[in-house]
Amino acid sequence: MDISVVIPLYNEEESLPELYAWIQRVMEANGFSYEVIFVNDGSTDRSWNVIEELSSKHEQVKGIKFRRNYGKSPALFCGFKKAEGDVVITMDADLQDSPDEIPELYRMITVEGYDLVSGYKKKRYDPLSKTIPTKLFNATARAVSGIKNLHDFNCGLKAYRKEVVKSIEVYGEMHRYIPYLAKTAGFCKIGEKVVHHQARKYGTTKFGLNRFVNGYLDLISLWFLSKFGIKPMHIFGLLGSVMFIFGFIAVVIIGVHKLYAMYCGLPYILITDSPYFYLALTTMILGTQLFLAGFLGEMIARNAPERNNYNIEKEL
Ligand code: UDP
Ligand code: MG
Repeated sequence: MDISVVIPLYNEEESLPELYAWIQRVMEANGFSYEVIFVNDGSTDRSWNVIEELSSKHEQVKGIKFRRNYGKSPALFCGFKKAEGDVVITMDADLQDSPDEIPELYRMITVEGYDLVSGYKKKRYDPLSKTIPTKLFNATARAVSGIKNLHDFNCGLKAYRKEVVKSIEVYGEMHRYIPYLAKTAGFCKIGEKVVHHQARKYGTTKFGLNRFVNGYLDLISLWFLSKFGIKPMHIFGLLGSVMFIFGFIAVVIIGVHKLYAMYCGLPYILITDSPYFYLALTTMILGTQLFLAGFLGEMIARNAPERNNYNIEKEL
């Protein structure tokens, strides 16, 4: 099979028939063999009935129904697991992404050899309150992930080589950083294509402004995990040692200072009356704590099932 289209959706009943008809038109015009996997993320409207109807009419339509709303990332995860096509394309269900982009995305993966191609909504039809924070968000994501050529990390329209979706694990709200996950898994040929974007026709957006707060926190977590996920001691041990040594030296200096003053008959105060002593003490305690966090982290990492999960490309 050439293409699997994975579509996560939450209360998008009005869009689905139109979306499927459009995908079908594009696929047939280009002679692709394909499947469309609708992942119903616990919709409370008639979305699932619509999917069932479509599926009874078209053998290409497959569906997954969550019992409750888990979020876009879990929906993508399950869709990826089920996908069988050589190229996997994700798109939003709200008709904001255009299926007309599919042939070119497919070509970029199969002919130009990209592992992942992300859509870039250069001209967006979203409110300003969303587009401006999005620019900031993408700049940070570019800097942290080191994927310099992506302008739009969180575009719903993306195309992947099959191996990519089978090697990455999207969870929580990590769908915003799939290119980063792919890069961490060793898929480095990541490209971008400017895509058409439309205003939402039916329904309302499912993400509020908290997407930016959560987005930043997730980015920090991803950065931490990709750098120190299996060697936490390398960060906590370093920070802990530096702080402890710093505090220890400070205490020694305070002590020596007092002994020297006593020896020379100069005026002196009790060590416990000096504010520096408490600062030094706190630093030593914090240093020890960080070191302990490193040990605990190592014990957790040692038990992580993915600690020896390497992405082997070829073997002879
Ligand atoms: N979505 C989902 N589960 C959720 C929230 C959203 O499957 O909990 C789907 C939604 O139905 C849509 C896509 O994710 O197909 C993108 O959502 P939306 O259009 O609301 O996001 P925006 O375009 O505002 O970024
Ligand atoms: Mg949308």
